[in-house]
Amino acid sequence: MGERSHIGWTDDTWNPWQGCHKVSEECRYCYMYREKMRYGQDPSTIIRSRPQTFNLPLTRFKGPLVFVCSWSDFFIPDADAWRPEAWQIIRHSPHLTFQILTKRPHLIGNRLPHDWGAGFPNVWLGVSVGMSKYAHRLAELLQIPARLHFLSAEPLLERLQVNLSGIDWVIAGGESGAGNNYRPADRDHFRHLRDMCKDIGIPFYLKQLGGNIKINGVYGGRRLDLALHDDIPTFGRGEALTGLPEKLNAQNY
Ligand code: SF4
Repeated sequence: MGERSHIGWTDDTWNPWQGCHKVSEECRYCYMYREKMRYGQDPSTIIRSRPQTFNLPLTRFKGPLVFVCSWSDFFIPDADAWRPEAWQIIRHSPHLTFQILTKRPHLIGNRLPHDWGAGFPNVWLGVSVGMSKYAHRLAELLQIPARLHFLSAEPLLERLQVNLSGIDWVIAGGESGAGNNYRPADRDHFRHLRDMCKDIGIPFYLKQLGGNIKINGVYGGRRLDLALHDDIPTFGRGEALTGLPEKLNAQNY
């Protein structure tokens, strides 16, 4: 739970704590719930990870991108006692860029560090929205200053009616799961998001189309109308980058 990531839009995943409470319909087939239950653990109990995992950014991570809390939610109140230490690790890891994705943006404001200012230069803040009725998370996110704001539309469950103004990057993905434990994604919904991003000139990353069959190692494959969508933004809004790998420098937004 803290290693080189198989997720294409990041490099490492960091889980300083694990466990979560389901908050919305998108959570129905939560990957973390499925995996924890497979190992006989209670996914609704939030536990702090052992020090070796908690401290991974200071020891093993190469980054530069680090997805935070793939097995929890960084802003979940149950982790209030541990978060200051996590912020401290982030503060001391300027060589890493932390991608913090939440379904609880209304909780961010009271959980930022005192020196957040206009946002730590090495933190991207994002919200997960898979259905239009949760689009309010975008507006809540944009109230928080951050170096970069992003949307993860995964699992994408319908044609999203969202206002992307102020959003710097969009990730999309279909739901996946064994047997019938997933809700199929409609390609037109991906096309709609792709075209919206193109219209306003922001990067779009299509992670997977979803389902229960892997194509080239990814559920449902990654090609939409024969094309791959691999956009990952550079830092912030078009600032020069140094020392980042080719896949980042290849994009120049
Ligand atoms: S917020 Fe994320 S981690 Fe938490 S239950 Fe929902 S899908 Fe799972």
